[in-house]
Amino acid sequence: MQPTEPALSYDVYQHPKAIAYQQQHPRRSLPKFGPYLLLQTLGEGEFGKVKLGLHEEWGEEVAVKLMRRGNVDNQVRLSKVEREIEVLKKLKHPNIVRLYDVIETDKYIGIILEYASGGELFDHILAHRYLREKDACKLFAQLISGVWYIHQKKIVHRDLKLENLLLDRNRNVIITDFGFANRFEHKADDLMVTSCGSPCYAAPELVISEGAYVGSAVDVWSCGVILYAMLAGYLPFDDDPSNPDGDNINLLYKYIVSTTLTFPDYVSEGARHLLGIMLVPDPKYRASLQTVMQHEWLAPYLIAGLV
Ligand code: ATP
Repeated sequence: MQPTEPALSYDVYQHPKAIAYQQQHPRRSLPKFGPYLLLQTLGEGEFGKVKLGLHEEWGEEVAVKLMRRGNVDNQVRLSKVEREIEVLKKLKHPNIVRLYDVIETDKYIGIILEYASGGELFDHILAHRYLREKDACKLFAQLISGVWYIHQKKIVHRDLKLENLLLDRNRNVIITDFGFANRFEHKADDLMVTSCGSPCYAAPELVISEGAYVGSAVDVWSCGVILYAMLAGYLPFDDDPSNPDGDNINLLYKYIVSTTLTFPDYVSEGARHLLGIMLVPDPKYRASLQTVMQHEWLAPYLIAGLV
């Protein structure tokens, strides 16, 4: 008798996503990266594309963040990539993107991440104009749970914004993009870059302190901006009439510090109170994450045992 082939060999090309991709792009061959077949582009980042990957042996879906070595061409950029990898290796939480592997080739550094198939929270809000408080409360509690976890590990994210919050297939928040994350102890070396990247979300002290110590309060500020955007459908601080594009950061901060927070009618009293204690320009008087977690508005989703 001839030995037979094992009957159950997996054919990744028969995965529904591979079939769909090949039907849409019949002339394109499917490139491989390590053990992953690369399909469509999910998004573009600073250093290259993020692609949907399928593991060739068991078909698991992942996000492959491909960074061309040519784009990681100076020390600042390299340390951003290294920091993201170093930080992600330490983190394991349901609302933080999981790092599965790092694969290096001559041309690319590839970060293999959990695939957040529900898209960006930003688009989810846009599609609904603004979120119902019940939905916002659930998503915000998940965000806070993830941020609390990283703060417990003495890490600050420093670039929390809607674009860095993805959703998984069950519409749970997945926090991504740890390129600006830092340990509390380290003196921040690139604060201006951070605040230039996302001025509408950055805490005032990131600009005012000009590179001095910045602690976990910056993440509380950004979470406040995110919660405001979920509930209102627009950002709280990007409409200074004398700075229409929000591109002059110093003007934007003068505007933040001198403007009283206002809310659209449909935001409840409880949510207004919570936002009012988070979006306090002076970090000394801003609510701590612990206070945020104990706030009544979050009670329906308070994660038992967290505080
Ligand atoms: P930037 O700093 O400009 O936001 P980046 O270089 O940090 O970009 P990412 O934000 O990590 O790159 O990725 C760019 C886009 O790729 C995201 O906005 C998102 O649409 C998509 N993406 C990234 N990671 C994932 C993931 N794990 N699952 C699904 N899509 C992802």
